[in-house]
Amino acid sequence: MLSQLRDIVEQVSKVENVHSALELLVQQTCLAMNTECCTIYLANEEMQRLELMATQGLRFKGKKIHIHFKEGLVGLVKRSAEPLNLAEASKHPNYKYFSQLGEKVYQSFLGTPIIYRKQVLGVLVVQQKAPRQFDEMEESFLVTLAAQLAVIIAHAQTQGQWRLEKKQQAIRGIPASSGVAIGTFWWDDSQPQLADVRPASTLDIEREQEWLMLAIEEALSDFRRMRKKLDNEINKETLAIFDLFTHLLNDPMLRKDLKAQIQEGDRADWAVRQVVETYSNRFARMTDGYLKERAQDVRELGQRLLFFLHNAEQEQHQFEQPVIFVVRELTASLIGSIPKDKLLAVISLEGAANSHAAILSRALGIPAVMGVNLNLDSINGKKGIVDGYSGKILVSPSRQLLKEYRALANEERELANMVNQRIEESAFTADGERIEILLNAGLSADANIAVNQGVDGVGLYRTEISFLLQHRFPSEEEQTQQYHSVLSTYPDKRVVMRTLDIGGDKALPYLPIEEDNPFLGWRGIRFTLDHPDIFLMQIRAMMKASAETQNLSILLPMISGAQELDDAIVFIEQAYQELSLLDPRIVRPHIGIMIEVPSMLYLLPLIADKVDFVSVGTNDLTQYLLAVDRNNSRVSDVYESMHPAVIMALNHIHQSCAQLRLPVCICGELAGDPIGALLMVGLGYRSLSMNTSNVAKVKYLLRNTQVDELKQLADKALMQPYGKDIYTMMQDFFEQKGFSGFIRAGNK
Ligand code: PEP
Ligand code: MG
Repeated sequence: MLSQLRDIVEQVSKVENVHSALELLVQQTCLAMNTECCTIYLANEEMQRLELMATQGLRFKGKKIHIHFKEGLVGLVKRSAEPLNLAEASKHPNYKYFSQLGEKVYQSFLGTPIIYRKQVLGVLVVQQKAPRQFDEMEESFLVTLAAQLAVIIAHAQTQGQWRLEKKQQAIRGIPASSGVAIGTFWWDDSQPQLADVRPASTLDIEREQEWLMLAIEEALSDFRRMRKKLDNEINKETLAIFDLFTHLLNDPMLRKDLKAQIQEGDRADWAVRQVVETYSNRFARMTDGYLKERAQDVRELGQRLLFFLHNAEQEQHQFEQPVIFVVRELTASLIGSIPKDKLLAVISLEGAANSHAAILSRALGIPAVMGVNLNLDSINGKKGIVDGYSGKILVSPSRQLLKEYRALANEERELANMVNQRIEESAFTADGERIEILLNAGLSADANIAVNQGVDGVGLYRTEISFLLQHRFPSEEEQTQQYHSVLSTYPDKRVVMRTLDIGGDKALPYLPIEEDNPFLGWRGIRFTLDHPDIFLMQIRAMMKASAETQNLSILLPMISGAQELDDAIVFIEQAYQELSLLDPRIVRPHIGIMIEVPSMLYLLPLIADKVDFVSVGTNDLTQYLLAVDRNNSRVSDVYESMHPAVIMALNHIHQSCAQLRLPVCICGELAGDPIGALLMVGLGYRSLSMNTSNVAKVKYLLRNTQVDELKQLADKALMQPYGKDIYTMMQDFFEQKGFSGFIRAGNK
């Protein structure tokens, strides 16, 4: 047989055209093995199927025939990557009769994978009408032939000698706002580009200063106008981007730097470019993902200033039909300048998923994809699809794809209408259990967050963000004003303000901390206790700000032991004693701690009488429990939010709190995740704090679920050794309940 093998390979390798080579191979193999049928299937990984390329003995007249990887004996050989030798194929549980192939007449089956560098490229099969057990020699003959064939196929593939049928190629970007849109691409290139401003000097410094001041004033009034325009349309917190711009433009430091640059003789637009780039680079260098992305906000501000410096007319985009808006750099103002009913989706060549423009698109419910590599000229005016879940963009899609995406878009619309209908109502489960839904706030430097009727209060206000956006520690007065605006936004609701949680990946630009292990270092309460001046100033500001509304709770981050808590309470009490003498309206705030360092799981019973509530920070708890850096993409698969140990820890925390009658809330990302939220309610949690975008979805899910069902799921989850099984179990539940639309790729 060895000489036959050599002959076949020799003959086949002489044929130039690979298709003819395969034809020859199947004929020669039938002869060599004395059998009636030989077939070559090649794997199309993208379509997850095996495509028949050549056969002797099966019905195949050039029409496309394919078998899914999951189907039949051929699929089994592909999946197992092992030969399969059966005298009576029809008795095998995986046997499947493919009528289009006319293979009913064949009884015996010997299939072997065609493997090249660990990858199964296809399957080589011989079949025979009479039952026949191919012997060991024959099996190894076919295996050897397949190995030779693999080289021929791999070579032909790299030479581009044939192409397997492909799904339409999608362009990929970063999914920034979920949803699907179908329409015409419209490329906007009217924005003045900061990067295009060249060095230019002036002799008339005074005129340039005036020019700059005028542009600042115009930009400020534009932001006011824009904010007002969007006021009724979207979630209030997101509007804070315009307040952030206003805040930055009013910043004395920025103005001083701009003026100083002009004073050196630079023209105003050149001064703007230099100063804005210095500021944005400062943000870009930060390790914290959120702050890094603020670099883009600063650049957007620069773009706007440039726009007004050039004294251009206010851009007004006029569209007859709604469009998919494509821009080099998406800005919040740009989104604001287009009527919402004309905006199907946005695509930005630059930017990341958490820039304010992305947050704004999410709040407006407009699908957005950022960081896309696109040839702008080639797509302008073309029809396309934007998939905000996966970040895919399809230009001139096939009819089939259009059909699929139209169906998806319809489902989307229905889902959004459905969940938003009762967003303002309090959250109850189907069997009447009240669940408190709180907001995670503090994303913007400005604290002007308007009332969100749909929530029961603020469960987590991250104060560090405004500290990080400054050039120095904000003064007590500045902080008081800022906290006042948050507290008075929710006059009748509880607002939980967390004290400064810097360190880790959030280093202050004006107080760099160099450490080998920053997440295990000088972070959160450890830093503030070492700086009583900063800590006291912040607590005093919070208390003063709450004098009218009396709705303040103080939350302490990164507590790892009782002593830290005792020390923090001493400072809080000291501030309270001082201030309540001056203003009797000031009441003693409720004090709580974050449960995010695993040691606190064990200490809970011993510190319970010192606090009024606890809040579980699942983001850090997962990081510290699994010893996995929450920001490191290399180990992102180890960071499992539904890791069994995390679920068990959460169960333990809930049970301890119930026993101790200690109010507990979850404020990590898990609480706003559709699957996570339901699982947490199943574990017994009744208070969840989340980002605005998840409020309506979570309320809907709760309204349509019984606590009992969730409890059963949670009990089952606690028995699973693998996180993926917990996820699959929840996924199955979502499917069974008709909730699948909530867990499309983008929601995960
Ligand atoms: C957490 O750790 O879960 C949390 C809510 O806080 P942060 O993400 O700000 O660390
Ligand atoms: Mg945390």
